[in-house]
Amino acid sequence: MKTSLAETLLSSIRTIPDYPKPGIMFRDITTLLGDARAFRRAVDELVHPYAGTKVDKVTGIEARGFILGGAIAHQLSAGFIPIRKKGKLPHDTVRVAYSLEYGIDEMEMHKDALRPGEKVILVDDLIATGGTAEGAVKLLTQMGADIVAACFVIDLPELGGRAKLEALGVEVNTLIAFEGH
Ligand code: AMP
Repeated sequence: MKTSLAETLLSSIRTIPDYPKPGIMFRDITTLLGDARAFRRAVDELVHPYAGTKVDKVTGIEARGFILGGAIAHQLSAGFIPIRKKGKLPHDTVRVAYSLEYGIDEMEMHKDALRPGEKVILVDDLIATGGTAEGAVKLLTQMGADIVAACFVIDLPELGGRAKLEALGVEVNTLIAFEGH
C-alpha cells in the first residue's frame, strides 16, 4: 500500500520537547533529510506546484533552507541564492532586520545575487511566527524580485506566519502542520 505524504512526513520528523527552551516542541527535520524516501518525497511535493513554471532563482534561509532549497533549485533548473545571518557573506550585501521571539537579528544576501524582475521561490524548513520569512520577503522585494511563492515543509498555523506572508501578497505552500508551538 502506498503511504500517504502526511504519514511519510510525520513518521520521519522527530519532535524534541523543550528544545532549545522549555515549552518549545522542536521539529527536527534532520531525520527526514536522512531518510532517502522522505527527503525525496518532501522535495518532489514542494517542487510539484511549480513544475513547468519559469523560476529563475530559489532562495534558501540559513541553514536548513539551504538543504531543501538546493534540491528544489536543482529540480526546477533554477539558480540558488543563500540568505544568511549577517557577516557570513563575503561580497557586498543588502541587509534587513527581522524579529525573533525575543529581540531582533539581521539577515543578508549578496547585492548581485538577482536581477530585478527575476522569479524567485523562497524556501525554509518551517514557518512559525513568520518573522524570519517576512525578513527574507523584505530583502527580496528590496532587490526587485518577483516572488512566486514561499515554501516550507512544516507550518505551525497557531503562530500566524502563513497569514502574515499571505497578507503581504505572498503565496505560501506547506506540506504538513503541527498544533501549538
Ligand atoms: P519564525 O521566524 O518564528 O517563523 O521561525 C522560523 C525559523 O525558526 C525557521 O528557520 C525554523 O527553522 C526555526 N523554528 C522556529 N520554530 C521552530 C520549531 N518549533 N522547530 C524547529 N524549528 C523552528
